[in-house]
Amino acid sequence: MRIVDIIRAKRDGHALSGDAIDSFIRGITDGSWADYQASALLMAIVLRGMNAEETSLLTDAMVRSGRRVDLSSIPGIKVGKHSTGGVGDKVSIVLAPLAAACGVVVPKMSGRGLGHTGGTLDKLESIPGFRTALEFDEFIAILRDVGCCLIGQTRDIAPADKRLYALRDVTATIESIPLISASVMSKKLAEGSSAVVLDVKCGSGAFMKHHDDALALARSLVSIGEAHGVRTEAFITSMDTPLGTTVGNALEIGECIDTLKGQGSADLEGLIVRLATRMVQLAHPATEEAAAEAWVRAALGSGAALEKFRDMVVRQGGDPRVIDNPDLLAQARSRRHVEAAATGYVTRLDAEAVGRAAVMLGAGRDRVDAPIDVAAGVTMLKKPGDATKEGDVVLVLHYNDEHQLNDAIQLAESAIAIGPTPPPSPPVVVGWVHARGETSYV
Ligand code: URA
Repeated sequence: MRIVDIIRAKRDGHALSGDAIDSFIRGITDGSWADYQASALLMAIVLRGMNAEETSLLTDAMVRSGRRVDLSSIPGIKVGKHSTGGVGDKVSIVLAPLAAACGVVVPKMSGRGLGHTGGTLDKLESIPGFRTALEFDEFIAILRDVGCCLIGQTRDIAPADKRLYALRDVTATIESIPLISASVMSKKLAEGSSAVVLDVKCGSGAFMKHHDDALALARSLVSIGEAHGVRTEAFITSMDTPLGTTVGNALEIGECIDTLKGQGSADLEGLIVRLATRMVQLAHPATEEAAAEAWVRAALGSGAALEKFRDMVVRQGGDPRVIDNPDLLAQARSRRHVEAAATGYVTRLDAEAVGRAAVMLGAGRDRVDAPIDVAAGVTMLKKPGDATKEGDVVLVLHYNDEHQLNDAIQLAESAIAIGPTPPPSPPVVVGWVHARGETSYV
C-alpha cells in the first residue's frame, strides 16, 4: 500500500488494516516515511480517531519496533508507572525510588517534555552528568542492584515512539486517545513490567481537559495492558492547578529532593504516597492498603527513599552533590515577580497557562531539535485556597532569555484568579480504573 493511500484512507475516516499500521510504524522506524507524511497521518488520526482494534494494533507495532525487555532474571514483581503528562508533574522522580525502597522493582521508561507539559527525562538531565540513554545491560544491572532505573527510549526499546513523540510535540497532534494510549502502553509493554500504575491527568493542564475523555483514556490504557497480560490500573488525577510548587526542569529536581527529605507540598506528597501504596500492593499482593501506606510513609520519613534516589543518581552518572546542595543545580540569571492584583483568596492557578508560560521562558520546546533551558521555569508561592493581599508575589518567573518574557508575564498573570472566599478544595485523585471495576472519588 502506498504511503499516500494510507494517509488518504485515514483522512477519509476509514479504519486502517494491520498491514497499513505496520507499514507506518516500520517507515517511522527505518526513516522511509518522511516527517511530513508521518505528520499528515498523525493529524488524520487526531481528527478521525481509531477504533479499539486499530489502537491495539498500533501499540503492538510500536512495541515490535524494538525489543521487549525480559526482566525475568530479576526476582520479584516489576511495577511500572507512567503519567499522561501534566504541569509540575515530577511524581515519577520521587515515586520510583520511594517504591524501590519498599521492595518494588521499578523499570521506568520516560519521555521528554510534550507541548506545555514537562518531561521526566528533561528534568533528570538537569542533574549534571545524569544519563538517560543507557544500554540494555546497564539498565538491567541498575534495576537489579538499586531497584529502580529511569531511562528514555533507546534504539532498541520502543524507537517508533521516540520519533512519533517528538513529531507530535511540534505538530499539534498530541491530544488523541489512540495516540496517547499506544505511546504510553508501547513503552510500558516494552520495558518489561508485570504490572503498571498509570496517572491519567485531567483538567486544564492535561491533554484530557474533561473527565469523560480522561475516563475513556484510562479505560483504553487499562484494556490494552490487560489484553497483553500486564496488570494495569489507572488513577485519574486533577490537573487544573500545577502539581507542587515549581514548574521547570532544575526547579522541579530541587522540589523532588525536598520531597524525598520529607519537605514536599501536601498535594504532591499525597499523590506520590497514594500511587506508591498501590505499587507496593501490586508487588506484594497480600499487603493491606493501610500496611502498604505505612510502609511507604516510613520509607519517606526514614530517608530510605532519598538514599535510593542517591544510588540511582550515582549509577546513572549524575552528580550526587546536588542532593545535599541543590544550589548546585542550574539557576537562571534573572527573575520576575507576578503579583496578586487584589486582596482575597487565590481561587484559580491555571495549569495550562503556567505550563505555557514556562515553555516561553525556555523550559520546553517548540521545534523537535530545539534546546531547552533547564534553569527556566516558574515557582508558585501561592496556590488555590491561599489568602493573599494585593501586591503579594504569587509567581516567580525564572529566565535567561527574555525574548518571550512579556508574553510569558501576560500568560502568568492570566493564570491567576482572586476572589473574596476560598474555593472548594477538590481531591487530587478523582477516579480509579482497574480490571475489576471503576471507583469515582467525586
Ligand atoms: N506520555 C506519553 O508517553 N505519551 C503521550 O502521548 C502522552 C504522554
